[in-house]
Amino acid sequence: MSSGDEGLLTLTIKMRVSPEPSLFKELVSLMKRYREALNHAIKVVIENKALSLGKAHKLLYSILKERYGLPSKIAIDCYREAIAIAKSWLGNPNRGRVPGAKTPRLWLTNKYSYRVRDSYVEILGGFRLRIIGWDKRYDAYPNGDAILLFKDGKFILGISKRVPKPAKYIPRGILAVDINEKHIAVGNSKTEHRFETAIRRALHYKHLAEELQKKYSSPKCSAWLRRRGILNRVRYFHRKARNIIEDWAKKTSYRLVSMAKQHQYAVAREYLTGLIESVRKLPKEHRVGLTILSYRRLEQWIDWQCEKNGVPIIVVEPRGTSIACPMCSSKLIENGYRRLRCSRCGFEADRDTLAVLNIERRALVQMWGALTPLNASQMTDVSPNR
Ligand SMILES: [Zn+2]
Repeated sequence: MSSGDEGLLTLTIKMRVSPEPSLFKELVSLMKRYREALNHAIKVVIENKALSLGKAHKLLYSILKERYGLPSKIAIDCYREAIAIAKSWLGNPNRGRVPGAKTPRLWLTNKYSYRVRDSYVEILGGFRLRIIGWDKRYDAYPNGDAILLFKDGKFILGISKRVPKPAKYIPRGILAVDINEKHIAVGNSKTEHRFETAIRRALHYKHLAEELQKKYSSPKCSAWLRRRGILNRVRYFHRKARNIIEDWAKKTSYRLVSMAKQHQYAVAREYLTGLIESVRKLPKEHRVGLTILSYRRLEQWIDWQCEKNGVPIIVVEPRGTSIACPMCSSKLIENGYRRLRCSRCGFEADRDTLAVLNIERRALVQMWGALTPLNASQMTDVSPNR
């Protein structure tokens, strides 16, 4: 996944590649040195604000070659990547720790440091890797820069491509998406579906990690090697939790964007940054962290799927989506658990249905500049799919 700009979309085409056995060790060693060199270069670039190639070259080129043993061209790729990472980190107002690479890798400039020939990728330094399988749909578009990763014993090459964005259709209606901690309600005045979130599943692994950490932080346990094993296990659990969220966000966004495309609807979602800010004020618990991560990843994946599939997207302000009556805009009053009722027109529904209807309504206003009247009788069609 990646962002695009006017008219073009940047895709990363991933493929498994495999080096000749005799060069396996040498390549992995180079990629490990590159990772260390990159982490060093990121720090230097940020500390010295060396965001230009000239400045970075002066500060880093000889160190990257001598201390990390990188070939000349790869040393240049290395500080170029460091500049790109530093720029995006500095440009993020919510930046956390200085970013760093964990996986052995190589950043490759198109044509200079790598090229694709038949079913092989050739990398500067005499490496030749066989391509095991790839998505041939984008073969017609020129290759951009690439990243080679060594993960779980496998080499993965990601080549970036710029492809034209598909044209967006004129929507026949709205598919509103409401997100809360337990589930996602997707629908409009004619239909409604609910998807579970993955927060509970991910939380399970966060708790496992926490228990292990507690158990082995007692003074009784001091064997370093054993701790190291435990530490890896703890990290594994954290990673597992994040992967569950990512996988869920990807699949859920795909399902709901496909649904929108099938019916030629525009997808309407709330402006999530505000929601995230309000969640951020809660105590720092795993649940809160995972909720923020879920919102953010789902938001990004929905937008991406929409761009990729030519589905129009409408972002509405989140304020009060479940407070106002979707029929007459009057204030709603509580009427039992998670249910609300309008004192003026008598309309009644649960919170999530209300949120969906209100998002739909706001999106219609935003799109047409006027309200398309909703028909209350259509509410009988509401059918949660789980
Ligand atoms: Zn009402």
